[in-house]
Parts: sequence; C-alpha cells; structure tokens
Amino acid sequence: MRQSKLFTKTLKKAPKDEKSVNSQLLVRAGFVDKLTAGVYSFLPLGVLVLKKIENIIRQEMNDIGGQEILMPALHPADKWKRTGGWDSIDILFKIKSRTGKEYALGQSHEEVVTPLVKSHSSSYTDFPIFVYQIQNKFRDELRAKSGILRGREFGMKDMYSFHLSRDDFESFYEKAKQAYLNIFNRCGLEAKITEGSGGSFSEKISYEFMVLTEAGEDDILYCSSCNYCVNVEIAKLKEGQPCPKCAKSKLSLGRASEVGNVFDLGQKYSRDFDFWILNENGGKTYPTMGCYGIGTTRLMGVIVEKHNDKSGIIWPREVAPYAVHLMPLGSEDKIIHTTEKIYEQLCECGIEVLYDDRADKSAGEKFADSDLIGIPTRVIVSEKTVASDSAEVKERGRKNTKLIKIKKLNQYLENLLC
Ligand code: ATP
Ligand code: MG
Repeated sequence: MRQSKLFTKTLKKAPKDEKSVNSQLLVRAGFVDKLTAGVYSFLPLGVLVLKKIENIIRQEMNDIGGQEILMPALHPADKWKRTGGWDSIDILFKIKSRTGKEYALGQSHEEVVTPLVKSHSSSYTDFPIFVYQIQNKFRDELRAKSGILRGREFGMKDMYSFHLSRDDFESFYEKAKQAYLNIFNRCGLEAKITEGSGGSFSEKISYEFMVLTEAGEDDILYCSSCNYCVNVEIAKLKEGQPCPKCAKSKLSLGRASEVGNVFDLGQKYSRDFDFWILNENGGKTYPTMGCYGIGTTRLMGVIVEKHNDKSGIIWPREVAPYAVHLMPLGSEDKIIHTTEKIYEQLCECGIEVLYDDRADKSAGEKFADSDLIGIPTRVIVSEKTVASDSAEVKERGRKNTKLIKIKKLNQYLENLLC
C-alpha cells in the first residue's frame, strides 16, 4: 500500500474528548474515528488489524470444531420476551417499527441461536454442535468508556455449544479455555483465567479472561506463583492473603480488562425454547449449552494499551496492519528508484508493506508517523544505504539498526516474519 494513497491522515494531537491511551493513539494514527460516544468507525489501518485479530480467532475456533455462521443483529421482541431478557436486561436496545412490531438489537445471541439450532437438529447423533459468529453487538451502556474498550456498538466473537451430557460439555469447556489462551497469546497478551460471577443468566461461576491494565474496569486478585485468579466481585479473600491454591505467594490486587469469557448456560435456553432431543435410550434431553465471547474491538484496544511507548503504538507482529514500513529518505532519483524496486520485490513475495512514498514529508515527519502507526519493522533507504546496495532495517521499539544487502532483504525479512 502506498501511503500517499491512504485517505486517512495522522494527527499531531489527540482530540480533547479522547482520554484513554488506546483511543488517543488509535485516533491519532488513523485506525479509528469516533462517530459519537461509544461508537467508532474502523478506518483502513484499523480494519487490517481487526481482520488479523478475527482471523486468529477463526483459526482457533475452527480448530476446536467451530462452524462459522452469521446471525442477524435485528431480533423480533418475542424471542427476548420468551427468555425474560426483554424486561431484565437493562442494556438491551429496543426498537419500535412503524408497523407497531417491536425489535431488539442483538446484545448477545442466545435468543437467536437456540431456536436456530433447534430447527436444524433432530437426532442425538447430530450432537455436539458448535457454532460461532463475528459480528457487531449493541448495548445501551450508561457510560461508554476508555475508547474502544467499552462501546455501545462493538465487535464480538460469540460461540455457542450444545451438548447432550454434562461430561461432554465439561470436556469442550476445557478445550475452549485453552483455545482462548492461544488466541490472546497470539495477540501478544497474557490473559489470566479468572473466576467470575455467572452474570444475569447463570448461578454458576463463569471464567473471564483478564489482561492486567489500568485502563480496565475490573479488579482481580491473582497469585504470582500459580494461575489462581478471581474477580474481586465474587472473591471471599483479600489482597495479601495466601493463595488458596498453591499457598506459595500472597494474593496481589490488579486492575484488568476482560477480553473474553466463557459461560456455562446449563439448560436455561434449551428449556426456554422447548428444545429437546430423544437420547439413545428414548428419553427427553434438553441440550446443555455453553457460550464463549471475545470482544474483538476491545481486544484491539487492550493490545494498544499494553504495547505502546511515548511515540506511539508497537503492534505485536501477528496483528500488525503491515509487516514492514518502507521509506526512502531523500528525493534523489537513485533513492526513489531503489525504494520502488524494493517495494515491488517485497510485494512480489507476499510481504505486507506500507510504503511511505509521500514526497512532501520530511524525514522527521515520516519517522514520527511511522512510530505512531507502529508497524513492527521499518526499512529505510537513504543515500548511505544505496551506496552499499543495502537498506537499513529497524524494529519498532528498539534502537539498533541493521544494514542488509538489497538482494538478501527478502530472505532476511521472511526469516524475521515467521
Ligand atoms: P463487561 O463485564 O466488560 O461488561 P460482559 O461480562 O457483559 O462484559 P459478555 O456479555 O460476556 O461481557 O461479552 C463478551 C465479551 O465482549 C466481553 O468479555 C468483552 O470482551 C466484550 N464486551 C462486552 N461489553 C463490551 C462493550 N460494551 N464494548 C466492548 N466490548 C465489550
Ligand atoms: Mg463481565
């Protein structure tokens, strides 16, 4: 991509109403744009990152047997009345049509997926069933906070599983938790599996995936010697008390953001929708359900909260909008010609490159933009490098640079990228 063609521009200063690190950097660098509180547009660079995150999630969900679907965001009210959500869920957006019919905007999809799977399964041999989607959700949050960490419209991956036995559910639940850890790990984050409350529809505990950050809205107690972690909301212990699991360390208190969670729904929705199956012995079984959410847009915000410095974002490689930021320093023909050639040669071998071909920008401006946008590897072509048929390679966030011969550049970058 030629940067001169990118319709978004970087901003020297963040708009006054953007208070959080993630939104200041994402808005300044041109990844997102605020329409109104809690509602953001995703711009070309932002869409690239979001798609990378979504594709990591897709791979991991497909690996555990998930089948991707796409459900509507506009739901008839009767489904929500049937489960009680219409009256009990305060963040549900409700819409009245001019025909008099009422609708809800999807804040989650149990009300749609349960009748959907009911109508497509008829025998116990059809089970277990795992479906997921990646879609925008709508929630009438009282306060939209922390940039894209808490929106009124936001991206979510939601998976739903249907099982004919508790054992089958439990074993899948464990698999899903491991897949979640893989996802967050690939996104450059360390997530803690945290015991949390079951939420509005479950008496049981749920597991929240928490990333330590001051930008979060949750408080967690965690152990530094083992993986014990609990949300303060349900904790019976206090900071400084010994870890109940390993007893090796005292519990620490930390601020965290919930990037995902998994819920045991039991038979709540299968019973609400009278969804049962005749089991092997001819008895009626209401499927046990699990739901598994990841806030895709929140995840992008948390990545920025964890990976930045005073100059801008430092994208972890797997979610970076481009792998390489290429730029010529100077306007001499030789420099431009060489950079064009490198751009072609990198594109040809499939390396994703943002090429800063803007003729009207100084070296200082290019560097500042490059630091702000945060592409992991920078390749610079200057008079000095051209003289030795080389280009200079530098990692974002590191000081040292390396001079690499142009004919070895592809190989060097390919090794670096995988
Ligand atoms: P929270 O506790 O943060 O309000 P939740 O417990 O209501 O979230 P779920 O309904 O399970 O969350 O949604 C699944 C995931 O979607 C959450 O783990 C979170 O990452 C994300 N999410 C929830 N609400 C929002 C929001 N308003 N904006 C952005 N992401 C959100
Ligand atoms: Mg929660």
